[in-house]
Amino acid sequence: MPFRYDPGELGPQEVEIGVSHCGICHSDLHLIANDWGISQYPFIPGHEVIGTIAAVGADVRSLTVGQRVGLGWQSNSCGECEWCIRGMENLCPAIEGTCVHRNGGYADRVRANARFVIPIPAALMSEHAAPLLCGGITVYSPLRAHGVNPSSRVGVIGIGGLGHLAIQFARVFGAEVTAFSTSAGKEEEARALGAHHFVNSRESKALKEVAGTLDFILSTINADQDWATYIQALRPTGTLCFVGVPPSPVAVHAFPLISGLRSISGSPIGSPYQLKEMLDVAARHGVKAQIEPFPMAKANEAIEKVKKNKVRYRAVLAN
Ligand code: NAP
Ligand code: ZN
Repeated sequence: MPFRYDPGELGPQEVEIGVSHCGICHSDLHLIANDWGISQYPFIPGHEVIGTIAAVGADVRSLTVGQRVGLGWQSNSCGECEWCIRGMENLCPAIEGTCVHRNGGYADRVRANARFVIPIPAALMSEHAAPLLCGGITVYSPLRAHGVNPSSRVGVIGIGGLGHLAIQFARVFGAEVTAFSTSAGKEEEARALGAHHFVNSRESKALKEVAGTLDFILSTINADQDWATYIQALRPTGTLCFVGVPPSPVAVHAFPLISGLRSISGSPIGSPYQLKEMLDVAARHGVKAQIEPFPMAKANEAIEKVKKNKVRYRAVLAN
């Protein structure tokens, strides 16, 4: 039975989007399972939305009915705090999530504050653009923030929805890219996406061989690992950055951090301005998600396939 709800009156700063596509991010699976203890049921997942504006609130001037737009993880912020004023709305303490505080995008319609609804460049096809709204921005933002450039050697751990976009963006920034994967069968595709090197992370010998070779490692996996090995893979001043959420605390020795001036960090999605920039970079440099399409009615089937790590590389639901 499809779930129906009455969204009430459209707020003056909100827009309503008629959903055409919605990507399946692994965060949706975490939320369905209440892994983070924040889910409320009945729960409508979905935060990689593409669609067209169906209605605009009374005060919205930036968007018009019929325009093609995207909406990611964040759907509102306070608009007044230091972080909002600095253009870092994704750090606002009053952040609202598209499918956490609201009803998400596995749906016909979805609503958000207009500041978080981004026009989609004409060069991007909707099904290829949907995964950029969360997966894309989540990897773009830290690569950019950490100054990845043609002299950088970048590692990407986990070649799933986020990871396959991270390889592409790291290449666009000119870096030498190493893919770390538990799936030997992904090597050829990882190289086709732009990876120069492929390391099977189940082979401890292969992992040891990359010791001291990387400036920036982005972990996109949702599993525990021997993080010490990845810290060892960093060159002095290098950073291991988490965007994927492993279930256990990350326990590492301080000495390799101290001796090599190495850092561990994390990064949450990106701001609306960065979303615009990322979409423009994707359009100009041909970054696009490799997708498996599913009809919206087959969402459960698609989710099962994501859970089994069988999707290459992003499942996208279409209405
Ligand atoms: P995904 O498409 O399912 O990809 C995850 C990849 O991790 C898999 O393709 C697999 O890559 C690897 N992996 C899976 N299970 C593993 C295991 N047991 N051991 C080692 N590697 C394993 O997921 P996603 O949508 O990219 O999301 C990844 C994580 O990022 C999730 O935790 C999600 O919640 C998080 N996330 C964070 C943010 C943020 O703002 N920080 C935003 C979006 C998502 P290989 O086959 O190559 O090993
Ligand atoms: Zn997501």
